[in-house]
Amino acid sequence: MSWTYRCPHCKGVVNPDETVIVLAAREDKQILLGFHPKPGNYTLYLPPGEDLGEGERWDFYCPICRRSLASEEHENLCSLIIWQGDKRRRVLFSRVAGERATYVIEDRNVAETYGEHAASYEARDKGPGVPDGTWPWHKIIK
Ligand SMILES: [Zn+2]
Repeated sequence: MSWTYRCPHCKGVVNPDETVIVLAAREDKQILLGFHPKPGNYTLYLPPGEDLGEGERWDFYCPICRRSLASEEHENLCSLIIWQGDKRRRVLFSRVAGERATYVIEDRNVAETYGEHAASYEARDKGPGVPDGTWPWHKIIK
């Protein structure tokens, strides 16, 4: 199974081989981060000598057009377009180091959820009277 990841802005492909590359910035540091393309696999590829501190919140940018990958759904989540064959979906993933929360979004619904912190996000953001399975979309369709 192969995936192609694209920037939501310039539509450029950000996984030249298998690894998904984003530009990560925090304070005065900028590094290229590599992610495993399979949603839910949290293997990280870091430049030699670099490490991410647990809980640090990084800004992620497209390595091609350098626009922010921040999502509309939550300030901690970034988004990329994921293509599998001719199927186009979106992936939301946390930009907080060590936080494992990934969502595959299809037609405005959460199709797949990965990571042990995903459920705590739903609990944190779900307002009263919001039915299960509609997070995070309730924030923008209301
Ligand atoms: Zn881009």
